[in-house]
Amino acid sequence: MERLNHKLDCKACGTIYLDIPDDVRNVTPIHCSSCGQFIGYWAS
Ligand SMILES: [Zn+2]
Repeated sequence: MERLNHKLDCKACGTIYLDIPDDVRNVTPIHCSSCGQFIGYWAS
């Protein structure tokens, strides 16, 4: 499981399993893999 260097967890359901695309970039929006909540950008 790849981890971010800063904590990003879902404020809606608390999971840390993020839906991270293979071609993730700094401006890629990250969504919760459990409920789909927008969490933030890869490098914010
Ligand atoms: Zn969630």
